Amino acid sequence: MPTRVAWTETPHQTESLGAEIAARLSEGDVVLVCGELGSGKTTFVRGAARALGVSDPVTSPTFSIGHRYKGDSLTVSHLDLYRLAGLADEDPELLADHLGPGRIAFVEWPESAVQELGRPRMRITLSHDGGDRRRIEVQER
Ligand code: ADP
Ligand code: MG
Repeated sequence: MPTRVAWTETPHQTESLGAEIAARLSEGDVVLVCGELGSGKTTFVRGAARALGVSDPVTSPTFSIGHRYKGDSLTVSHLDLYRLAGLADEDPELLADHLGPGRIAFVEWPESAVQELGRPRMRITLSHDGGDRRRIEVQER
């Protein structure tokens, strides 16, 4: 996968980077969004979702594994698998509603479901780099 690294200094810049990569996605794509707590994963997804035409507020899923938002011409899924230890004991359909044709899925904490998620279109890795600075790696296939 070609890799590109960017640094941002504000949440807005991280949203803009999300918007930029969103332009390269198409339906059925899965984007893994990795990085520690507070590194800006949800901020990044918010920017991407906006660019895909989502007007509802994009917030962290708390009571479910994910949210689905209506975008311009497709559905934007935003999953957060933080509390999911593994999918072995879960309903196999749990993820199905969020993936596939007509959808673009962004998945925070994808580690417990890499197999079920299939081959990702991109992997985004965010990390703290002092203060409000974030290092953001974009791996694309
Ligand atoms: P995560 O989903 O990784 O836990 P969030 O996007 O929910 O992270 O939160 C990131 C927090 O860091 C927000 O409070 C945001 O305002 C703040 N922040 C500060 N600087 C940045 C930056 N450069 N990029 C993204 N978020 C930033
Ligand atoms: Mg988050």
